[in-house]
Amino acid sequence: MAATVKVITKPPRTLADQAYIPAIAQGLRLTMGRFFKNTFSAREDGEIVTLMYPEETEAYPERFRGIHRLTQRADGSPRCVACLCCSTACPAQCIHIEAGEYGEGDPRHGYERYPVTFVIDELRCIFCGYCVEACPCDAIRMDTGAHMPPSTSRDHFLYDKETLLSLPGRDGSYLTANPRHEPGDASHPAWTASAATDTCPPSGGVFDFY
Ligand code: SF4
Ligand code: SF4
Repeated sequence: MAATVKVITKPPRTLADQAYIPAIAQGLRLTMGRFFKNTFSAREDGEIVTLMYPEETEAYPERFRGIHRLTQRADGSPRCVACLCCSTACPAQCIHIEAGEYGEGDPRHGYERYPVTFVIDELRCIFCGYCVEACPCDAIRMDTGAHMPPSTSRDHFLYDKETLLSLPGRDGSYLTANPRHEPGDASHPAWTASAATDTCPPSGGVFDFY
């Protein structure tokens, strides 16, 4: 079968188009219009409408997500179990995690891991929220309501584990409202106390689902 070719004719370009003069004039008109509007239309307090950013910021909408944070357990340790679900789901590939095991004697030893390294490159992030959706532990959230402070250094946008754990949510909390059931915690909805002597992990309890 013969291939069909669609011919698209370029619109003719006038001399004015080629010189870009009307486009430049249009751009300047917009810029100068904004300049005079901001300079001469004062707010109620007499100040011009331009904000003194970053000292002053606009109030963000309630649904503004903001930068990430890692939620904490009651003892201050990260809820994250380094399962890598978030970094796998991230389309921008901007989450770097290195997993480690809890030490001998820790009730979480052999039961779950923790992030030795957890870094998010906030400059590469597209704020899609997939990482939050992918997390099975409610360990990563985008509810800080804050954006990254401006900086001239790329390194300042690499948020490490300590920084992410130090950021509170909008409500000021470092935790989450979702309960977390630690190994051996009888408050787990699937815990059966009669099976507490069972040798199944974790810590001798039986979890019907998780
Ligand atoms: S919000 Fe999206 S792009 Fe940003 S870290 Fe999460 S998954 Fe990646
Ligand atoms: S933040 Fe959540 S999804 Fe990401 S590694 Fe930790 S537990 Fe897994």
